Amino acid sequence: MAIYLDHAATTPLRAEALEAMLPYLTEHFGNPSSPHGEGRRARAGLDEAHEQVAAALGADHREIVFTSGGTESINLALKGAAWAAKPYGHHIITTAVEHQATLNAVHHLEKFGFEVTVLPVDRYGRVDPDELAGAITDRTTLVSLALANNEVGTLQPLDAVVERIRHHRRILIHVDAVQAAGAVAIDLGALDVDLVSLSAHKFGGPKGVGALFIRRGTTLLAQVHGGTQERYRRAGTENVAGAVGAAVALRLATAERVETARRARRLRERLREGLTAMPGIELTGHPMERLPGLLSIIVRDADGAALQMALDLDGLACSTGSACTTGSTEPSHVLTAMGYPEDEARGALRLSVGRSTTEAEILAATDLIRIAVERHRAAATALTSGVLSVEMSA
Ligand code: PLP
Repeated sequence: MAIYLDHAATTPLRAEALEAMLPYLTEHFGNPSSPHGEGRRARAGLDEAHEQVAAALGADHREIVFTSGGTESINLALKGAAWAAKPYGHHIITTAVEHQATLNAVHHLEKFGFEVTVLPVDRYGRVDPDELAGAITDRTTLVSLALANNEVGTLQPLDAVVERIRHHRRILIHVDAVQAAGAVAIDLGALDVDLVSLSAHKFGGPKGVGALFIRRGTTLLAQVHGGTQERYRRAGTENVAGAVGAAVALRLATAERVETARRARRLRERLREGLTAMPGIELTGHPMERLPGLLSIIVRDADGAALQMALDLDGLACSTGSACTTGSTEPSHVLTAMGYPEDEARGALRLSVGRSTTEAEILAATDLIRIAVERHRAAATALTSGVLSVEMSA
């Protein structure tokens, strides 16, 4: 079995989540909208899932909508909020390091007359809260930012952002917490934001299940029309088993968060120390304000995609940046926004540890990466000198 250091792409389904889901895939198969006993049993499971997700976030169960994943939650939040507020304004603010779900959703809205400001970030990938506040106009209705970046793990100064803009009561704040949930404390009793997107497969739940927190009193236009499910906010027969699995996974991840984060941070630091001791390897993202389990590096004079493929053959699963952009030949938009030139950004590797990662795996992974980098660099040097000697003899 390969060493899996790609938990930022997805995590294995927790056994407890699977166990909780199974009855809803078998005997409790009813449609939660049906009035009979089978339907009521499914409804009870779905209701409990709403309660559990709400409790983990410090929210009310009526403020939780289940969706098909992080991407749908973000699309519902952004398009739903932007269209609902259109009579008052059409300006949206976000940052250059957002996930494609956010960037592509807001760029889609531009086609319908919405105006979008994409704010720059610093070398660590952080937005300046004052600059964000300065970008607000009397037409601004929505601000969206990811609490934790999926490529470099940097945490945004969310409290400072909220503090600067909260007095504009008309502006809704959406937080993409897809990477942060389960890894960073999120207390919506204290954090004054309006919309929060989650994705179950990032914290030990099933794939294709997400949740959107919609603070009470927030007006959204539904983006999927049909029945009355999820209090008219997301039509379609609910994925009961998925919601149940998501809720159990989030409850456990939240209960274990402090201990999991402490362990992940220790393993990540071991990996960082082992790798950055090599010449030409540097950490990207904020050194402190970052996800506990995510290590992002740049290997100079190397191609991250080639390294990732070589490591895959060696039995180590990691990624170059985001799994969603793997296969793209473009360098990461996150690293270029952080000021890295394209040739350096191409040397990016992301290693993300999870609950199952062991100390022995970290030591083995460090060796595998060191050897792969040396091999890669030796091959590149041989290639360059080969090319040179061909040119000289020509
Ligand atoms: N937002 C962030 C920060 C992510 O990392 C991801 C997934 O990688 C998403 C959104 C999209 O989530 P999903 O894969 O559930 O659609």
